[in-house]
Amino acid sequence: MGAPAPRATSAHYDRGVPDCLFCGIAAGQVPATIVVDGKRTVAFRDVNPQAPTHVLVVPRDHVPDVAALAVAGGGLLDELVGTAREVAAAEGIEATGYRIVFNTGRDGGQTVGHVHAHVLGGRPMTWPPG
Ligand code: AMP
Repeated sequence: MGAPAPRATSAHYDRGVPDCLFCGIAAGQVPATIVVDGKRTVAFRDVNPQAPTHVLVVPRDHVPDVAALAVAGGGLLDELVGTAREVAAAEGIEATGYRIVFNTGRDGGQTVGHVHAHVLGGRPMTWPPG
C-alpha cells in the first residue's frame, strides 16, 4: 500500500490558487458576508469597512490585478464592473454615487494579490485619496 493521498486543507481550493484568501472566499471555503453570488464574480463585505457601504467584487478565477484582468479579456472586467453596479443598486447608493477602486501593486496599496474592486459609498468621498 502506498502513502496516503495528501488531504486537502481549508487553505487549498479546488479551482483557485492555494492560500489565496479571495480564492478561498470565492470557493465558499473562507467565511465572508456575500452580497452578490454570481456565476463568474462574487461580491462580499470588506472586513474593515471604510464607508457605510464597502464591498469587494472579485472574479471567481484567480487573476492578480486589474491590469492582468484587462489583458485577459473575455469580458470579465466588464462583468466585474457590472457586479459593482449591482452592489450599488442593492445597497441603495446608485443614485447618490459611489467610488470603485482597484488598488494595484505595492505603491497602489494592493495587499491581496487577487484582483478586487472596492465599492465604497453611503457618504461623500474625499479627493485626493491619500
Ligand atoms: P487592498 O488593500 O486593496 O488589496 O484591499 C484588500 C482588502 O481586503 C482590505 O480592504 C481588507 O480590509 C480586505 N480584507 C482582508 N481580509 C478580508 C476578509 N477575510 N474578508 C473580507 N475582506 C477582507
